[in-house]
This record gives sequence, structure tokens and C-alpha cells, in this order.
Amino acid sequence: MLDYDLHCHSTVSDGTLSPTDLVAHAAARGVKVMALTDHDDIDGLDEARAAAERHGIRFIDGVEVSVTWRKDITVHIVGLNIDPSYQPLAAGVAAARRGRVERAHRMADSLAAAGIGGAFEGALRYVGNPDFIGRTHFARFLVERGHARDVAAVFKRYLVKGKPGFVEHRWTALSDAVGWIIGSGGLAVLAHPGRYTVGRKPVGKPTMRELLREFTEFGGRGIEVISGSHTPQQCADAARLAVEFGLLASCGSDYHGPGESYRDMGQLPDFPLDCRPVWDAWEAADDAHDAPVLKVQNG
Ligand code: AMP
Ligand code: MN
Ligand code: MN
Ligand code: MN
Repeated sequence: MLDYDLHCHSTVSDGTLSPTDLVAHAAARGVKVMALTDHDDIDGLDEARAAAERHGIRFIDGVEVSVTWRKDITVHIVGLNIDPSYQPLAAGVAAARRGRVERAHRMADSLAAAGIGGAFEGALRYVGNPDFIGRTHFARFLVERGHARDVAAVFKRYLVKGKPGFVEHRWTALSDAVGWIIGSGGLAVLAHPGRYTVGRKPVGKPTMRELLREFTEFGGRGIEVISGSHTPQQCADAARLAVEFGLLASCGSDYHGPGESYRDMGQLPDFPLDCRPVWDAWEAADDAHDAPVLKVQNG
């Protein structure tokens, strides 16, 4: 079992635990190295890092950038070991959040047209960060109003392509997302490759390979092999892609809080044997840094 969890969400985006509580939860679940990867936001990192120090967890600054690839395929790029003070990244995700507000108004209009009024204000009541709104906040409002049993059930009937509350939206370009992450000194990882769709169908292998070719050309270096939102088959497929494209393998629960997650934090299954873990990239650098410095012999 892995004691690394490099993908999760706090109230700074659409999770239900504060950064402090999320880190405490990770510690209780045996996580030794964690990254906080809020959607299009980096404001939780300082708080999470301070909590991680108290719990003896190694903390990795992370982010999950929403991307529109080609005409209308949404993909997510996780950045690990980013520098949150790097201005192009901070400004880029701030612009993405403004786009989220504009999208949220259109989502509310779409729900109103389906007879569900007050959704913008309703979703806002579930927002934990006044600067971030997403589909999950709308989902919680729809559960509250009795339109579905839980958040997962909402996404079957609302907020997805072809259903009330779904609107097209142009996210960040792939080249920008990868560029901001690596420009800040971070490592770009394709999140949960098993989850991507064209329309409502899973993307096929040829499209996935084209995505990975572009991603690596822009400087992307990692892929999530173990994701809380992957089936075992999707983990195996992602492992093969990691080997084929020479990508480092990452792992994360994609935890969003109790009762709203694919799986709990930590205790993730091991990588298939032929995967190289993403932490090789920074642990090798640590080793070099810790190596004894050769003293110049004088005389
Ligand atoms: P957004 O980035 O605002 O479009 O929202 C994407 C988020 O919605 C994901 O990160 C999940 O938290 C949530 N989500 C999307 N699809 C589902 C689903 N089928 N079940 C539960 N949550 C989902
Ligand atoms: Mn989410
Ligand atoms: Mn995601
Ligand atoms: Mn996520």
C-alpha cells in the first residue's frame, strides 16, 4: 500500500474539509506525503503546509488546473511541487476562477429553464471560498432541494452534457496549464486519464495517445496511474500509457470529504511493477542535495 496521496480537495475548491482538517484526516489515515490539489486555486497551501508540519507529514504544493483540450474535451492537469508565488500561475488560475463565476450564472439560467430557480444563490451557500464556485456546489444545492439522493446521483441527471444545468465552458488551454506549472518549477501530471469523455462517451485509445503526445511535447512528465476515481482496469490502462510515454506515475485519492468521495484518503494500492513513481523526481533531487559536499583539499 502507498502512503503517498497526491490529489485531494479542501473547502478552498469543492471539498468539504478545511485544509487543516483535511491534513488531520490524511494523518489519521496513515498518509506520510500529501499534496493539496484544489481546482484552479492555490490559496489553501499555506494553511495545509502548516498543518502538515504539525502532523509530521511531508507536504507538496499542488493544484489541479481545468483545461479544455481541442474543441470541447475537459481534462485536468495536476501540478506538483509548484511555486504558488509564481505570478503567471497565480494570475492564470485567478482568471479561471472568474470564468467559473460567469459559468455559474449560465448554469443557474439553464436550471431555471428546467424549472429549478434560485440555483446560483443556493449553490453559493455551499461555497467554502467566496472566490471559487463549481458544479459540486450546485450538486449540493440540488440534493438539498430533493432533486437527487446524493451528489453522485445529481451528476447522473443534472450538470453533465445534455442535462439541465450543463453549459459549455472554455477552460485554460493545455499549453498554458502545463506552462504555468513547469514555469513555476513544478511537475505537470495528467489527472485521472480514465475519466475523460468526448460528449458522454469515454475517449478512445487513439485520442488518449494524441492527448499524451501533446502533453509531453509541452513538458508534461507524469500521469495518474492510481486514482480514487479509476477502476482497476483504468489503473492498468494508465500504467501501460505511463510506460509507453515514459511518464512518471502518480497516485491520489481525489478525496473531497466524508460521504462525497470516490474513496477515502491514503491506503492506495501499489503501482504495477513497471511504473516509476513521480516522487523519484524530487526524492532524487533531495538525495543529491543531502550528499556530503566534497571539501577542497588545501595544501
Ligand atoms: P467543475 O470543475 O466545477 O466542472 O466540477 C468538477 C467536479 O465535479 C469534479 O472535480 C468532482 O468534484 C465533481 N464531479 C464531476 N462528476 C462527478 C460525478 N459523476 N460524481 C461526483 N462528483 C462529480
Ligand atoms: Mn472536485
Ligand atoms: Mn479532476
Ligand atoms: Mn480532483
